[in-house]
Amino acid sequence: MKRRDFIKKAGIGSIAAGSISAPAIVNANTKLKWKMVTTWPKNFPVLGTGANQLATAITDMTDGRVKVKVYGAGELVPAFEVFDAVSRGTAQIGHGAAYYWKGKIEEAQFFSTVPFGMNSQEMTAWLYHGGGMPLWEETYEPFGVLPAAAGNTTVQMAGWFNKEINSVKDLNGLKMRIPGLGGEVLKRAGGTPVNLPGGELFTSLKTGAIDATEWVGPYNDLAFGLHKAAKYYYYPGWHEPGTTLEALINKKAFAGLSKDLQVIVRNACKMVNQDMSTEFTAKNNAALDTLINKHKVDVRQLPDDVLAKLQALSEEVVSELADKNPAAKKIYSSYDKFRKQVMAWHEISEKIYFNVR
Ligand code: CA
Repeated sequence: MKRRDFIKKAGIGSIAAGSISAPAIVNANTKLKWKMVTTWPKNFPVLGTGANQLATAITDMTDGRVKVKVYGAGELVPAFEVFDAVSRGTAQIGHGAAYYWKGKIEEAQFFSTVPFGMNSQEMTAWLYHGGGMPLWEETYEPFGVLPAAAGNTTVQMAGWFNKEINSVKDLNGLKMRIPGLGGEVLKRAGGTPVNLPGGELFTSLKTGAIDATEWVGPYNDLAFGLHKAAKYYYYPGWHEPGTTLEALINKKAFAGLSKDLQVIVRNACKMVNQDMSTEFTAKNNAALDTLINKHKVDVRQLPDDVLAKLQALSEEVVSELADKNPAAKKIYSSYDKFRKQVMAWHEISEKIYFNVR
C-alpha cells in the first residue's frame, strides 16, 4: 500500500510540475473503477455477454488502469434509465440501443434502426465511413454523453404472435411489444405498441397481457423461451433490419482519460461492434434449427400485402419525423442519401449473389 501511495503521489507531482493547467487525466499508475449499466438482463446471451466482453476488453487492454464492472438491467438502475445514469455520471459507461431513448431524443432512433432501412453491414458502413458517427456524437452532446457503435443484432425476426397474421386487418387491435419507429408504424396500422424491457416479455406474452412480441432473433428468443408462450414465429424483421447497439460514455469521464486509454476505449467498442454481429450470425442459424426441428415451431413469412402496407406506413412515419424535427431531418438526409447509394451497390453485389448462390 505504502509503495503504491508513493508512486501515485509521485505521478501526480510530476504532472503538476510539468504544466500548471494540466487536465485531471490519469497517469500510468492510476487505477480507475468504471461502472457499466446496461439495458439487458445480466449475462443475457450476446447482448449481456457482449457488454461483459466490452468491459473485460477495456479492463484487460488497460491492464486494469480502467476496471469496468457490469450491472445488468435493474441492478443499479432500471433498463430504460441507462442513458440518464450515464448522462449524470452515476455510471461512466452504458450499453443499450438508441431507440430506447426516443421519449427524450426522438432523432436518436436513426442510430439504432429504421424500419425497412439499412442492414447491419450498411449501418456500420454509414456510421464509420458515411458520416453517421459525427451526427450521433452531436445528438448526444447536450447530454454530456459520447456514443459508440458497440454491437449489431443483424436482421431480426418479426416476432412471436398468438394471432395469425393473414392480412393487414389482422394488425388491427394487435397489442404488441415493439420498440422504436417500428412501434409507431404498428400504431398507424391500427395496433397498440408497447415498450417493455426484454426481461418482461415471456410473462407478458404467456399471460395474454400482449398478443405478440418481437425480441431479437432465434438465438435470443430461444434463450427467453418465447416459443413456450406463442404459437407463430413470423419473419422478416422489417422493423429492425440491423439494429446497432451502443456504448454510452460519460464525456467528463472520457475526457479524464489519457490519450492511450481513450483510444483503447474507442477500439474496444469497435471490436465488440464487430464481434457481436458475427456471434449473432453464428448462433442464430443453429438456434433456428433447434426451434424448428426440436420445438416444432410454426415459422411463417408475413404476407406480401402486410409487408407492403408496413413499408408504406414506415415511409410516412420516418418522413413525418424528419419534417417536424430539424435535427431528425439533418440525420435522416445523411442516412437516406447513404441508404440509396449503398442499395444501388448492393443490388449488383450482395443481393444478386444471395439470389444466385
Ligand atoms: Ca427487437
